[in-house]
Amino acid sequence: MKTSRVTGGLLSLAFAASVVTGASAQAQGGPAATGKTELLWLGQASFRIKSPGGKVIVVDPWLTNGPKAPAAYKSDLNALGKVDLLLVTHAHVDHIGDAPAIAKLNNTVLYGPADMITPLVTLGVLPANLTHRFNKSGHVTPLPGIKVTAVKAEHSSLLVWNNPATGKNEAHPAGEAMGYIIQMENGFKIWHMGDTGLFPDMQFISEHYKPDLVLIPIGGNFTMDHDDAAFAARTWIKPKNIIPIHYGANPITKGTLAGFQAAMQGSPIKVFPMTEGQTIEF
Ligand SMILES: [Zn+2]
Repeated sequence: MKTSRVTGGLLSLAFAASVVTGASAQAQGGPAATGKTELLWLGQASFRIKSPGGKVIVVDPWLTNGPKAPAAYKSDLNALGKVDLLLVTHAHVDHIGDAPAIAKLNNTVLYGPADMITPLVTLGVLPANLTHRFNKSGHVTPLPGIKVTAVKAEHSSLLVWNNPATGKNEAHPAGEAMGYIIQMENGFKIWHMGDTGLFPDMQFISEHYKPDLVLIPIGGNFTMDHDDAAFAARTWIKPKNIIPIHYGANPITKGTLAGFQAAMQGSPIKVFPMTEGQTIEF
């Protein structure tokens, strides 16, 4: 993913899922606190998460150039509504995507790998006050009652930046890719794995942080494919709930939802397949 550019420079048993709506852009303004965690899948690794306390967390937003982003969000970043927290797992364009633009639009701080944030600031993509650098095992509490822990992802990170002085794309080292354990006000924990290949410490991360829901990449080529992801889920992670992500947006990623579902047959893990633009509540 090097051809595009960054523009512009417990309570676990209580959490049962329900799919609530199809695609619909939310009106501007804060959502009501529902007591539930709502996830809207925006394609690839992009999610908007509404916390039980009504906070809005956006992860890896690849919208304006995301081939699977729902039209309402692709054409207008304001369709996200207010954004209280931005998380980016690594600098590849299908993850950092529109995050700098959304940070500036909402005056929202972008949290990301320390050595991805540094070039964003030194190159002038974002002002330092709209960034927060952290690293693996780092805990942050960016909003009251919301805790985010950075965890390992077996992947890489490179920032492609279009230099306005030359008009040319430049590649800049951007630290190491990460995943996030995102804990809501009521204790519900989501593990957004980011992009990752197989690594056995997935078992340690799952046992240590006890995520209630895991967002797992299945597309292959850049990450685990559907068979690897099912192996990781069944053998190491063993979550209660899992949503497959990061497939179908790039023709060289051949992993499929059907392949993942077939490989998960007979497992007690609940698989929640989503379509882009759909929301689900836990
Ligand atoms: Zn990547």
